[in-house]
Amino acid sequence: MARVLLAKLQQETATFNPHPTQYEDFRVVRGAEILAELGGTRTEVAGALDVFAEHGDVEVVPTVAAWAVPHGPVVDAVLDRLIGEILAEAERQGDVDGVLLVLHGAMAGQTEFDPEGRLLAALRTRLGPVPMVASLDLHAVITDRMLQNADMLVGYLTYPHTDFYETGQRAARNLMRLLKDGVQPYTARVAIPLLTRGDELITATGRFGDAIRMCQALEDSPGGLVGNIYLSNPFTDVPDLQTYVIVTTDNDAARAKAEAERIAAYMWDNRDLWEAELTPLPDAIALARATPGLTVFSDAADATSSGAPGDSNAVLKELLAQDYAGRALIPMVDAPAADAAFAAGVGSTIDVRLGGTLDPTRHTPLPVTAYVKSLHDGEFTYENGVVDQAGRTAVLTIGGIALIVTERSVLFVGLRAYQAFGLEPQDFDIVVAKSPNGFRTWYEPLASRIVHLDTPGSASLNLESLPYTHCVRPIHPLDDNVVPTLRAE
Ligand SMILES: [Zn+2]
Repeated sequence: MARVLLAKLQQETATFNPHPTQYEDFRVVRGAEILAELGGTRTEVAGALDVFAEHGDVEVVPTVAAWAVPHGPVVDAVLDRLIGEILAEAERQGDVDGVLLVLHGAMAGQTEFDPEGRLLAALRTRLGPVPMVASLDLHAVITDRMLQNADMLVGYLTYPHTDFYETGQRAARNLMRLLKDGVQPYTARVAIPLLTRGDELITATGRFGDAIRMCQALEDSPGGLVGNIYLSNPFTDVPDLQTYVIVTTDNDAARAKAEAERIAAYMWDNRDLWEAELTPLPDAIALARATPGLTVFSDAADATSSGAPGDSNAVLKELLAQDYAGRALIPMVDAPAADAAFAAGVGSTIDVRLGGTLDPTRHTPLPVTAYVKSLHDGEFTYENGVVDQAGRTAVLTIGGIALIVTERSVLFVGLRAYQAFGLEPQDFDIVVAKSPNGFRTWYEPLASRIVHLDTPGSASLNLESLPYTHCVRPIHPLDDNVVPTLRAE
């Protein structure tokens, strides 16, 4: 019977969001509760548990699972507490034969740039040479410390990400190979000075899918253990931020290096494909005016799903400036405005400042007169069945413009986050989605046109607009004439 320690620590951190992530923002589940809550879902934990169950002789030792939606840097003391809880529980559990960690890889504290590496290193110190495998997001930032302390890293192979469960299975299978088959992993890494965005990264339809299929072919071949391309989250500005190809073989250094270099060359040679095409706001509104039916604006720069605060008023400002006469639907995180609406009550007309409450350097609060159409407690259920809390939520209207003003940040990717508050996206000419790509799943069947906005925000796809201070330099596309070596190490 093999005892396998299980822990999960996940957040995608957006370092340009000035609002830090607090302990209360994490859902923290402990011990057997982890199996009860995550078993049977489509998560990495569930995928791993199912593989362990198939083996029949694995005792899973669940410790701590903590995860939060994307947001600003994790407060240092919060990071210390979360990592401390996992280590204390690992200590309490005594000897184990293996470790499976479910991580993100693009988490960042206020001063700790590599929380995942820190956790892996601390576990390695405590547990010694036990096999340790970690699963990661495709947007992980791979550090030396992570590579040195994990026996294998296994990342998602889809964007938008849909293979959480399958990644958990791959990670668990590799841990079992280490425990039972005695594989000897050799990992090659190629670092590519490259930041990426844009539709060609959609693995089902874009050219990035070809590179992913090279990874899958390697994993399906004899002796090929893991192949991954880690794009790094471009909004996690840390010293190791760049793209990585990581290939692990069973004790075949030459092959691992050759495969990693081949995939890296493909990524670099096609670097001009991995950029987003963005439309200035006035042009976007002109396109919407000329389009019968629904136009969806992707305001990725303020995407709460990318960790931005959700307090942008850029679209509202431009629509009002243009005296836009159509019907537009805009979500906005603005606790003071929600409070003002609750104080005034349904049916009131209020003078209020909207936007810029969380990221005032990028958005200036906009004074408006608005009608309080409805008020809500903010609880709703996403398309995937997960419940979320937007806090005090007000629907305000200004002419044909409807605003969902929430106290807390939630994901404005699908339709439910609007429908829950009595607003049907199909009834509008313009709907703002706070999402770079995930929204397409829900809106492509409804929309006459989709426009990717060039707006200010801490998660802008116009990467040159962001104040990078830590990432690898020179790097494409922030710098010109970058000449990488693309050598495996
Ligand atoms: Zn990701």
